[in-house]
Amino acid sequence: MSVEILKVKDFYLQFILKNSDISIANAIRRILISEIPTMAIDVVTFEINSTIQQDEFLAHRLGLVPLVSNNEQFVETKDCNCPNGCPKCIVKLTCDVNYAEKAKLQGLTDNQPVYLTSMDIHSDNNSGIRPVVYKNCPHGIQIAKLNPGQCIKFKATAKLGKGKYHAKWAPLSIATFVPSENNSHVFTMETNGSLTALDALKKALDILYEKLNQINPNLNFE
Ligand SMILES: [Zn+2]
Repeated sequence: MSVEILKVKDFYLQFILKNSDISIANAIRRILISEIPTMAIDVVTFEINSTIQQDEFLAHRLGLVPLVSNNEQFVETKDCNCPNGCPKCIVKLTCDVNYAEKAKLQGLTDNQPVYLTSMDIHSDNNSGIRPVVYKNCPHGIQIAKLNPGQCIKFKATAKLGKGKYHAKWAPLSIATFVPSENNSHVFTMETNGSLTALDALKKALDILYEKLNQINPNLNFE
């Protein structure tokens, strides 16, 4: 089995998987979608929300914001020995925005709405976690609209998880393959920015290797 890269960008990758059974190709696709661990917001406690968007709606949107992290350093809360969360298994995030401050910063004088974006979510400085910033969207992902007089203040907790628990932890937005000639399969994959496409592929292959070794340590799968 080998991989030939056809096209690579930060978050996009096209490659040919050669000399591989279709079942292995499908295993890689499924691992890409559901088994690669990433960080995502899991608990949100609102202190103030005077916008027209309900807390539940905002919490759902916050969960879907891709977080960039060096997730090698984190463990899932269920695998951690601490009782109530520690720096190894959770990261605390905060957000405190109000219309007046944002409008002043943007030089607005005519009561136009402003937006709470992913750039307004801040983490502990040394946690190594930050919301993704796309090149074509440098101001962050829009989460909520604030009209004059409105404000939002909350605390959130991000945890390590996998796409098989909830789609918010799935790092891939696209993972497909088309069978080609001679046991080859053309893959197209795109991540949501929480990790690069190449890193996602490397991690998926490591996880597959680990799983096959669990089934049969003498298999010597390469
Ligand atoms: Zn812990």
